[in-house]
Amino acid sequence: MIKAIRGTRDLLPPDTDLWNFVEERVRSVFQRYNFHEIRTPVFEATELFARGVGEDTDIVSKEMFTWEDKARAQSEKAQSLTLRPENTAGVVRSYIEHDLGRSGQLQKLYYVGPQFRRERPQKGRYRQFFQIGAEVIGPPSAGSELPIRDAEVIEMLTALLDSVGLKGWTLHLNSVGCANDRAAYNAALREALAGVKDKMCADCQRRAETNPLRVLDCKVPEDQPIIDALPKISQYLDEPCRLHFADVKATLDTMGIAYQVNERMVRGLDYYTRTTFEFTHGDLGAQSAVLGGGRYDGLSESLGGPKAPGIGFAIGEDRMIMALQAQQAAATVAVDAYIAPLGTGMNRHALKLARELRDAGLIIDVGDESFRLKKGFEAAEKMNARYVVIVGENEMKADAFAVKDIKKGEQVTVPRLDLAAALHKQ
Ligand code: AMP
Repeated sequence: MIKAIRGTRDLLPPDTDLWNFVEERVRSVFQRYNFHEIRTPVFEATELFARGVGEDTDIVSKEMFTWEDKARAQSEKAQSLTLRPENTAGVVRSYIEHDLGRSGQLQKLYYVGPQFRRERPQKGRYRQFFQIGAEVIGPPSAGSELPIRDAEVIEMLTALLDSVGLKGWTLHLNSVGCANDRAAYNAALREALAGVKDKMCADCQRRAETNPLRVLDCKVPEDQPIIDALPKISQYLDEPCRLHFADVKATLDTMGIAYQVNERMVRGLDYYTRTTFEFTHGDLGAQSAVLGGGRYDGLSESLGGPKAPGIGFAIGEDRMIMALQAQQAAATVAVDAYIAPLGTGMNRHALKLARELRDAGLIIDVGDESFRLKKGFEAAEKMNARYVVIVGENEMKADAFAVKDIKKGEQVTVPRLDLAAALHKQ
């Protein structure tokens, strides 16, 4: 038997009803904040992620699905391609390629789609997973650097979580400063790590040399007391970065959005500057992050583009669905009526009636004229239909249909013209 590859999975009904419910809410909430959808390719040049996400991140160094795409013609060169492990680099590439900053306005973009990372599969961690993300990016003259953008994006997330009905989340907030602060902080970390790194895990020993900030991501229990004693990023923020962070926090305070400052939260991607944040959820076990995001003021320039500060986030849709399911927020869509054609020649009349009712916005399923009525009722009950509508010779002659309320067991006859309205009623 051929099976889905480990780390990938089929999303099946009725779960897909919940996925669609979430995506509908996403589109409706994001639209109210004037965000518009962008769809970028699922694979890109490997170099985009190496430069955008960072060579020494776990994603780029261990987790990418990369292949050498053979040259098709002599004039063509072989190219290294990668399935996107995240979507921000692709969005910024697209922003640069299409010169989206030329209008001088902020671009407010969102995406929904699959991402790919070769991680060790476990609960809440897949090799193909889905992210819902948004980015606000634009020239500095459009105010893309201002703290209000950070606060608005975070506030939009809380509105979305309310709209899908997710409760019990915690917002973790930090500032990782800008390039200036980072150099000073990295130097301080390196110095502090020099004395202790021999006692740490192999990954940390390597990171202490190559990218000391990444040490803060380490999850190895024995390393935690050492990491907690390292210098804190807040001591190294320059004046503009401190003021920026203070403004973001003050705006969230005014809006009544609770957060915890978590100075170890530097996030696993190199492009972040200033504000970083994560929302966690208690029902998710070890993989507790539902979403993560932050500011990336230098990303466009590091990809060869113009100065285009930005801020964005990515929600792990798989994890958001898991958290909703743990809350038992099943969003199954009930069938309004099951139409049972009764007797030879009735299928076409049944389908015609189904079309009229579907046009009226009802959810309709149809049986087959060869089924006995009992089989029709059983099918209707199994699919949780509210009514069964019988289409037989007598009904066609009278142009009125027998309608049975499945829960109450009552049956009435309803003229064709009144049928849609009768089925709309609860
Ligand atoms: P990141 O792009 O690493 O900042 O991740 C953003 C969010 O995507 C995380 O908070 C998770 O909810 C989700 N996520 C990341 N990697 C995976 C994965 N392998 N499987 C499922 N969800 C993931």
